[in-house]
Amino acid sequence: MEHKKEKRNERAAIQLGLFLVGLLLFGTAAGGQLTGEEKNGKEKAAIQTSGGVSDAVEPKKIALTFDDGPHPVYTKILLDGLAERGAKASFFVTGENAEKYPELILRMQKEGHLIGNHTYSHIQLTGNNREAFRQELISTNEVLKEITGAETIFVRPPYGSWDKGFEQELNMFPVLWTIDPLDWCSKSSTDVEKRILSKARENAIILLHDEYASSIEAALFIVDELQSQGYVFVTVEEIMLVS
Ligand SMILES: [Zn+2]
Repeated sequence: MEHKKEKRNERAAIQLGLFLVGLLLFGTAAGGQLTGEEKNGKEKAAIQTSGGVSDAVEPKKIALTFDDGPHPVYTKILLDGLAERGAKASFFVTGENAEKYPELILRMQKEGHLIGNHTYSHIQLTGNNREAFRQELISTNEVLKEITGAETIFVRPPYGSWDKGFEQELNMFPVLWTIDPLDWCSKSSTDVEKRILSKARENAIILLHDEYASSIEAALFIVDELQSQGYVFVTVEEIMLVS
């Protein structure tokens, strides 16, 4: 009886071993296919990590986020630049601006960017305006749903002021940032670029505003620079899922 059990265990162990070998082989084959298809990030990341002990075969993800738009001139230039580079971004728009420029919201959706809520009129949550803030989240979700047909889940609360209670009440989740280059108070794209590049790392979330020429210029410059270092620009959703 005991012996039989042991034999069964042994067989199970062998089967598991074969299964793991199969997985490894399958993984190698799939990896080969991927590098063939995705010329940009994956291949470069693989080259950089080969020879090292790092298990980071996956490309390094990083996210660009743009608040306060859409802007009729700069958002369009930005979307053109991102499309040329195959980079995805996340846009936290106000309901007010989304209503004014619905075609830009539709274009963001069509081109695979994430659209988030930045309140209707850029209101800051304080100790005594919870209900007004909540209403602005709801009305902005309605504006966005009217345009895109989709529900909005992510919110960038203006000035980072948030109440965790909204997460349950509205099924909305805040997205803050890890790199703030203060682009709104600098006209120099070079300064903004330097501040971002000095802090760039895997899974970073970069805060910018698509309403200044210098911010757009800096954003496209850092996409080129970081893509050449093996980074892939993804929406915040992809960063939030791993962290
Ligand atoms: Zn803002």
